Amino acid sequence: MIIALAGNQNSGKTTLFNQLTGSNQHVGNFPGVTVDVKEGISKSDKSVKLVDLPGIYSLSPYSGEEILARDFLLKEHPDGIINIIDGTSLERGLYLSMQLLQLNIPMVIAINMMDEVFANGIVIKTDILSDYLKVPIIPISANKNEGIDDLMKAMIDLIKNKCAPPRQDFCSGPVHRTLHATAHILEDHAQRASVPASFAAVKIIEGDEPMLNDLSLGKNEKDMIEHGIVEMENELSMDRMAAIADMRYQYIEEITQKAVVRPKTDKHHDKTIKIDNILTHKIFGIPIFLSIMFVIFWLTFAVVGSFLSDLLSGGIDSLASIVSKGLNNFGINPVVESLVVDGVFAGVGSVLSFVPTIIVLFFLLSLLEDSGYMARVAFIMDKLLRKIGLSGKSIVPMLIGFGCTVPAIMATRTLTSDRDKKMTVFLTPFMSCSAKLPIYSVFAMAFFTKYRAVVMIAMYVIGILLAIVAALISRKFVFKGNPIPFVMELPNYRLPTAKNTMLLLWEKTKDFITRAFTIIFIASIVIWFLNKFDIRFNAVENSKDSILALIGSFIAPIFIPLGFGNWMASTALITGFMAKEAVVSTFAVLLSTQTESISSQLGTIFDPISAFAFLLFTLLYTPCVAAIAAVKRELGTKSMFVVVLLQTSLAYVIALIFYRIAILF
Ligand code: GDP
Ligand code: MG
Repeated sequence: MIIALAGNQNSGKTTLFNQLTGSNQHVGNFPGVTVDVKEGISKSDKSVKLVDLPGIYSLSPYSGEEILARDFLLKEHPDGIINIIDGTSLERGLYLSMQLLQLNIPMVIAINMMDEVFANGIVIKTDILSDYLKVPIIPISANKNEGIDDLMKAMIDLIKNKCAPPRQDFCSGPVHRTLHATAHILEDHAQRASVPASFAAVKIIEGDEPMLNDLSLGKNEKDMIEHGIVEMENELSMDRMAAIADMRYQYIEEITQKAVVRPKTDKHHDKTIKIDNILTHKIFGIPIFLSIMFVIFWLTFAVVGSFLSDLLSGGIDSLASIVSKGLNNFGINPVVESLVVDGVFAGVGSVLSFVPTIIVLFFLLSLLEDSGYMARVAFIMDKLLRKIGLSGKSIVPMLIGFGCTVPAIMATRTLTSDRDKKMTVFLTPFMSCSAKLPIYSVFAMAFFTKYRAVVMIAMYVIGILLAIVAALISRKFVFKGNPIPFVMELPNYRLPTAKNTMLLLWEKTKDFITRAFTIIFIASIVIWFLNKFDIRFNAVENSKDSILALIGSFIAPIFIPLGFGNWMASTALITGFMAKEAVVSTFAVLLSTQTESISSQLGTIFDPISAFAFLLFTLLYTPCVAAIAAVKRELGTKSMFVVVLLQTSLAYVIALIFYRIAILF
């Protein structure tokens, strides 16, 4: 049994999905967090598969996510639909319900956020709603786990009895006549395409291209329908889209007038407006945002994160020396000891010690998102971003990009115009991802101890500034035109729930640790091996004679103009292509040292100027394999190569310019 969860953005679909399946998909108080279709098996009944669709407002394909959701509903024929509506904005939810009701699929409407509905003193008479819409209406609170059993029971009963919503009319007057006439004309085509005729008729009147293709109507039929529509437009003196929307809203108004009683003032909303008066203030909004970002980075790098990371790396080093002593006492072959200590401990350990810093960064970013502030950021930054050719919505992928480029690139699906989306994907790699953080940290420790935090923040700022320049240039030459106007509804502020935040942190941490023990683990062993032996597989005394040195010195000359033309740096950059953390683990293995002393050893191959040039290069050069794969998924192979080439050549040029100028002084 397949049940689809459909509803507006931010109505609580993912929260419900998590409750039902026991999984922990990311929930966020921001429209567009779920941009993919996610599937899970129901906890209580293993024969039920649940599908979490991205949030949509309509079944007209405007954005990628709407197309995704609609294709799923029309082509995969789920057995049932749970239509989830945010009870505090019932009207908007019902706009979608009216379209879902026409799909001839058993459906239950879940009215979510009942806790907020109560708190605001709103009364929703579910029996009246149910009389009108002729489907069960179940009040629930997804994050408090209330009403969910009733909901599932109602859904399963309907599916077992194959009880689809009865065909019903929401229309009257000219729209009614045109709709029914159209439905008659295309009835046989609709049957062949297996879509309900009344649904097809509405879509055709709305001028829906994909539906037109699916139905393959003949020329005469098209003409007949077009005449009917023009007639309707003349009679109503509004265009076809407006006529259909108007019909839906009239019906919704009729229902809600009978079924909903609202208090004179809306407490929760009033509070939100009060907070918004400050946070989205015309003048103070942006400075407040910048200060918040500054505090986030400062906490991450200068205070909590780095302190915890230092503690952990100390711990890992002690463990390594205990293990090393143990192995020595056991009299193990020194090559094996070297593999364990210089390979695995050095490589994996150097990456693991950054777990706390990354947890802190993700924790703070998730607070921004869950509270509802991120949506405000999109709003206040819109004007500024528009100047460089982006829309406010682009800020969200960019902020996510500070965590990891992969989800950031996926988040660009919320952008409705192709131009905006492409441009955002191209700019996201400029936002320095958290896997680069270990690199900055180790180098900053080694060469700029006193100004450690400054250098690290500088990396982020340089990335952002270059993104702005890149945006301005590409706007002139590549992405001509304007971003589409900003339309997004600002969700109410909510206190992030502890459970939610913990789940998210756990996911990210697990991810990072898994990478440390898989990619980094393997890379460390490979690097260790290539570094330990020469091409005749004799163990080498000096790693200058190793296989790795041979490979590295082949590439190294390219980097001589940038100041770091040694084989170790080139090798680190190559492994960094697999995963950015690997840059640090590679140095750790090559210098065969523990984390705490990488910093002192780096002095043997870099000076402060070449170190900074190296940092600039790592900030900008090609994103890692996973991120590139994400670009390919979103924009195709050509764009993928463009991203790789552009980023790498830009990295080279910037590092070169910096190094050449800096050595003059
Ligand atoms: P989606 O976009 O539809 O997947 O919505 P999410 O599941 O991501 O939830 C959006 C926001 O609503 C999150 O901040 C949730 O914590 C919050 N939320 C979900 N269900 C409830 C509920 O029953 N009551 C309240 N007060 N908040 C909820
Ligand atoms: Mg979601």
